[in-house]
Amino acid sequence: MSTLEDLKAKAQAAIDDRAEWLIRNALTILDNPEPGFHEIKTSRFVSEKMSELGIDHESGIAITGLKGVVQGGKPGPTVAIIGELDSLRVLDHPHTDPDTGAAHACGHHCQTPMMLGAAVGLMLPEVLENLAGNIAFIAVPAEEFIDVEYRWGLHQNGTLGLMAGKQEFIRLGAFDDVDMAMIVHTASDSQESTKFSIGGTSNGHVVKFVKFIGKASHAGGSPHLGVNALQAAMVALNALNTQRETFQDQNNIRLHGILTQGGVSVNSIPADVRYEGRVRGRTAEAIADANGKMDNCLRAGALTMGAQVEIVTIPGYLPMKNHQGMMDIFKQNAIEIVGESEITTHPADRNRGGSTDMGDLSQLMPVIHPYTTAATGSGHSVDYVVQDYTQAVVNPAKAMAMTVIDLLYDDGQKAKELIDNHTPLFNKNSYLNFQNSRLTEERYIGE
Ligand SMILES: [Zn+2]
Ligand SMILES: [Zn+2]
Repeated sequence: MSTLEDLKAKAQAAIDDRAEWLIRNALTILDNPEPGFHEIKTSRFVSEKMSELGIDHESGIAITGLKGVVQGGKPGPTVAIIGELDSLRVLDHPHTDPDTGAAHACGHHCQTPMMLGAAVGLMLPEVLENLAGNIAFIAVPAEEFIDVEYRWGLHQNGTLGLMAGKQEFIRLGAFDDVDMAMIVHTASDSQESTKFSIGGTSNGHVVKFVKFIGKASHAGGSPHLGVNALQAAMVALNALNTQRETFQDQNNIRLHGILTQGGVSVNSIPADVRYEGRVRGRTAEAIADANGKMDNCLRAGALTMGAQVEIVTIPGYLPMKNHQGMMDIFKQNAIEIVGESEITTHPADRNRGGSTDMGDLSQLMPVIHPYTTAATGSGHSVDYVVQDYTQAVVNPAKAMAMTVIDLLYDDGQKAKELIDNHTPLFNKNSYLNFQNSRLTEERYIGE
């Protein structure tokens, strides 16, 4: 039987041998950005690469998702390695698709190549036969919760239940056979100062889709006959700002959004104004409180103008909970790759402010979501550019492969121990009940 160290060394060497191929794959995805639930080309591309590596897989899960499960030499727990398929929409990024405005300004183009890289190491016959358990290679759609109206439409026509990739994977049962999971996300040198960082949490959120409905009329000739939905929205957004002093710092509330439609013709009083927004916070209770205040503000805008407002509240993400035992293993492996001085461990309550649906999964099973610092610029912005592709793709692939080997070596003792000692906050049913309870629709008539 090969030693643990042998297997890890062989996996690392195999990943190094394919480094150029992995990086080329990341650059291909970078040049073909597609936002959530539109990742048709990306999904097909990753599917081809999984087939090249001999990973049998399902496709079309939650529209564009992929999943392949590979069995080790003996039965045991299933560990998932996840990559996200989706891009953002960021105009004027150096890699923006001019037709769609889509751009990889969050580094997700590196994630499925990381997953493929881990597969290169783990699927060496000598490695695989020494593992007790399965490895699930999962490419998920739609982590960035954007294009809210589009997703609400997909929900209404029955295409989607929950409206983000991992959430919908959970609902569809695609994580039913998974016991623990990991993903590595790129970070920028403006966010992190070492090559890897682990630990910390993220905000949870709910997502808002809001329509202010007024009455059109000639904006010059007869504005008094109209009901101005844009003015209603302006009052609502100003009212929202009056609430900020009521939020307590420790709840880390973030209220933000965009007007996606402000009217149709400049010479007509706007009658249909649309807003997509977010209520983020550290706990479900704090989010619910801030969300109630947001709804009051939206109604206040409608009331002021005698307009109507339709408010859809969509279940968003849960806070991220990194599993300590998995973090410890990942950290040791990351140290082997980049050295101890290049690892930062954040305390569990260090909140990054943003949100991820990996948080949802982390409330169901042991999960880690480390960061690899490989970009410059500011996340979700025109200047967020991955610079160091070895650190963006190759090193995280190695760290994840080595972590899986640690978990599933020796009859999968380590994985079993961590799973047995873990108490998740939710099971699948209670999670789905909770999320469904957060989905609400309201039409308020301001009169
Ligand atoms: Zn992002
Ligand atoms: Zn991201």
